Amino acid sequence: MQHPGTLFVVATPIGNLGDMSPRAQDILRSVAAICAEDTRRSGQLLAHFGIATPLLAMHEHNEDAIAQKIVARLLAGESLALVSDAGTPLVSDPGFRLVRAARAAGVKVSPVPGPSALIAALSVAGLPSDRFVFEGFLPAKASARRERLQALAGEPRTLIFYESSHRIADTLDDAVVAFGALRPAVLARELTKLFETVLDGTLADLVTAVAGDDNQRKGEFVLLVQGAGEDADAKVAEGHRLYAKLAEHLPPSTAAKLAAELSGAPRKALYGMKDGDAS
Ligand code: SAM
Repeated sequence: MQHPGTLFVVATPIGNLGDMSPRAQDILRSVAAICAEDTRRSGQLLAHFGIATPLLAMHEHNEDAIAQKIVARLLAGESLALVSDAGTPLVSDPGFRLVRAARAAGVKVSPVPGPSALIAALSVAGLPSDRFVFEGFLPAKASARRERLQALAGEPRTLIFYESSHRIADTLDDAVVAFGALRPAVLARELTKLFETVLDGTLADLVTAVAGDDNQRKGEFVLLVQGAGEDADAKVAEGHRLYAKLAEHLPPSTAAKLAAELSGAPRKALYGMKDGDAS
């Protein structure tokens, strides 16, 4: 029987082409074909490095069908690679179903590690990095996004979110409601690119910075939020979460009083909330 090939999962730059590793280039040159999310975009990257390996389109909508064809080629002895538009495949990008299918078929899947925006952001944020939670993209719908954030209010580990330019301002507003205005946070924008900025402060500081400068709403973002403290922080976060729920049915003052009683947070800490924050 033919010895199966290897599926290489290859990370590519998140902005700076200098971050393409020599090994990534060698592997992409040596495989029979490269599965790519957007063949035009990956084609440009490969052309830059003089790599002429054929590309196969694999995106969210055809991944299952393509995965079967790719696994058949791997089993027939070809080695193939998987890349995404930028960064590490499978991290908020397609590839999970292909990797699972390849592993289920007994094919070797081997990583060629490199850039990923979440790790790049964590490495410069100055927030606790020993334990963290990657939440990917928040839901696009406002109500679902707020619910997701509320559910994370008491999470003690550092939280990491991906966000796009058209939603960053709304997400920061919602984060203030869920986690409290004073929660330390970092907004990492356009990492490794010309307009890289890493803003830190409280969530309220970030809201102000983004609202006050159009440029801070452009590009690609990673939002990191410090986890809830064991103590006062957690109580205030829980108070905010309860307030948001209670204010759906009760007048704001009653909701704040009850939320303070139930959470143990000082009522003062919940007073800053606007009526609309709970909607
Ligand atoms: N697979 C990629 C990775 O490993 O980081 C992530 C792909 S996901 C579709 C794209 C999101 O990643 C962007 O919306 C942004 O949140 C984040 N991102 C990608 N590149 C970035 C960069 N240079 N600076 C900040 N965030 C970035």
